[in-house]
Amino acid sequence: MSSFQNRLQKNDHKSIVSIVRCRDYEQGKVDDAIDQSLKNIGGFDQLINKGTRVHVKPNLLTAKSPEKAATTHPSVVKSLVKRVLELGGLVMIGDSPAGISRPIEEYWQATGMEQIAKETGAKLVKLEKQGVVERTIDGKSYFIASVIAEADVVINVCKLKTHNLTLFTGAIKNMFGAIPGFKKSEYHKQAPKVEEFSEIIVDIFSAVRPQINIMDAIEIMEGNGPSAGKSRHLGLILSSKDAVALDAIAAKIVGFEAGEILTTEKAYQRGLGEKLIDKIAILGESLDALGDLQIALPTNRFQYYIPASVVKVLGKLVWVRPKPDANRCKRCGACIAICPTRAMNPKDGFPVIDYNKCISCFCCDEACPHNAIDQDMSWLTKLFR
Ligand code: SF4
Ligand code: SF4
Repeated sequence: MSSFQNRLQKNDHKSIVSIVRCRDYEQGKVDDAIDQSLKNIGGFDQLINKGTRVHVKPNLLTAKSPEKAATTHPSVVKSLVKRVLELGGLVMIGDSPAGISRPIEEYWQATGMEQIAKETGAKLVKLEKQGVVERTIDGKSYFIASVIAEADVVINVCKLKTHNLTLFTGAIKNMFGAIPGFKKSEYHKQAPKVEEFSEIIVDIFSAVRPQINIMDAIEIMEGNGPSAGKSRHLGLILSSKDAVALDAIAAKIVGFEAGEILTTEKAYQRGLGEKLIDKIAILGESLDALGDLQIALPTNRFQYYIPASVVKVLGKLVWVRPKPDANRCKRCGACIAICPTRAMNPKDGFPVIDYNKCISCFCCDEACPHNAIDQDMSWLTKLFR
């Protein structure tokens, strides 16, 4: 039996979501919170023993420091790595960032992963260099990084953030980084609308099926996530063996309505996990005890809610598009490199956009390490705000 088939079998579990408070990223506090979280969801001792190949998949979207809340905090990753090593597992850490235009070592250094690898002996892997494995989902081919596809156990260490296309990014969306390199941009081009893009995200999630999902929700990102939003303190670590249940609970905690997040909906409809809150066992903090933690949504959130019929009738009068700021832009070229439609071209290093080619995927915004891309919108679109 392949490691992937093995993974699917072992994923057959009841949906439990653990909610544990953790005030900050001090390593001792995070270690305690992770230990409690693992205990609540039944641990991973039965999955990992000497020689088990464990891939730890953080969210390393961009080369920003952990304080920016755009990436999984290294202390959360470190706690998990330590526990896996204690069981004799072989740990690899790896993610494929959005628009990887710089050497991956710069991402590892900025996000704190390099330091963890040094301290623990875990191996950082370049997904782009390790080859891919083809998985066919619903007749479509996806090329998953081989180190993730072939790992015995995948630990999904995601970050709770808003997202300018899918509104919310958590456990399911974190698997998008299992696709190495610029192929991710191609998917944006193939599926510019949230409905289609969410299908692709769920396809990729179903091709990986991580056994353990841990969500860093100590400092989350709200507003114009997943890269240019603001950090907000939530003080929580959530975990589950069911990524769909984990996203459903996380989305509820930060104020989304049931059914609002398409990736959760679609994953549930395909039988990949539970989304119904009253069918999920919550251990640790209760939802009532957390109170109102409503977060700010992306500026372009209304795009998500404007009915397709309205967009069809009003056509070109309804738009939201990226607008690089000449003062904040450092002319690094990351946005130009990632643009899936080649809509961006440099003029003295500054990205100039051909809006006839732009599909408003905001990959450029995700990839910009300097938060130099604003969202511009038509007067009519502003009426929906
Ligand atoms: S310029 Fe348009 S198409 Fe290119 S990455 Fe930005 S939003 Fe996407
Ligand atoms: S907007 Fe400027 S700083 Fe941001 S990614 Fe593009 S070139 Fe780099």
